[in-house]
Amino acid sequence: MATALFDDIIFGPVRSRRLGLSLGVNLLPLDGKLCSFNCIYCECGWTAGDGAKPRFNSREDVRRLLGEKLREMTAAGMPPDVITFAGNGEPTMHPEFEQIIDDAIALRDGICPAAKVSVLSNATMVGREGVRRALLRVDNNILKLDSAFDETVRLIDNPQGSYTVAGTVANMKLFEGRLIIQTMFLRGECGGQRVDNTTEREVGAWLELVREIGPQKVMIYTIDRDTPCPTLEKVAVEDLRRIAARVEALGIGCSVAG
Ligand code: SF4
Repeated sequence: MATALFDDIIFGPVRSRRLGLSLGVNLLPLDGKLCSFNCIYCECGWTAGDGAKPRFNSREDVRRLLGEKLREMTAAGMPPDVITFAGNGEPTMHPEFEQIIDDAIALRDGICPAAKVSVLSNATMVGREGVRRALLRVDNNILKLDSAFDETVRLIDNPQGSYTVAGTVANMKLFEGRLIIQTMFLRGECGGQRVDNTTEREVGAWLELVREIGPQKVMIYTIDRDTPCPTLEKVAVEDLRRIAARVEALGIGCSVAG
């Protein structure tokens, strides 16, 4: 199976390994990925480098379609456990991200109040106040941190603009613990370079940042589907559990999806 794009604004619901019955919301283009990262493991494939003008889905379309789907699922007795902002790229890049989050929270409160609202983000936009305000209002503010080292982030996540781990961590600390850190662990080779963020040097430095940031929780996972770089390896679930135990030793809960 190849990497694949989401071809709708609202997708699923899918049974998520991490979140339960999850209804997806895609703010990004339906015909291509738009992201400030270009992760070697991205399930949507490589980020297009054609400089095309971004085509975000409109706030009105998102509100209308999300409302319709939530009403339909609730009427069928199967409301989602979670409304998840993810999709074909980085949701916080949408210029009306904050307003869209407010719309989603209002719809959730009115139709299926037990559902959580989650955002899966690569944290590149959390320097923007509006993005931080929105992320502070959602139930699960899930931010990516794949390594404590800039050179490893360059190898694994390929940031498209200026990115430093130190700057990202400083912004994460502004949430004062109201965030979940999400980390992809993988090994292998990509573009002739060895990639492994599970070495003791990597895990030790990453744990130190986790301790500094003090999130509510950490989610660690490994490759589950096809990746644009085909020479990557899944990390054994036992290895992930050993890393999780070290997070838990810091007094922070850690879920594992192997
Ligand atoms: S941050 Fe997410 S959407 Fe963007 S390239 Fe990485 S995995 Fe894909």
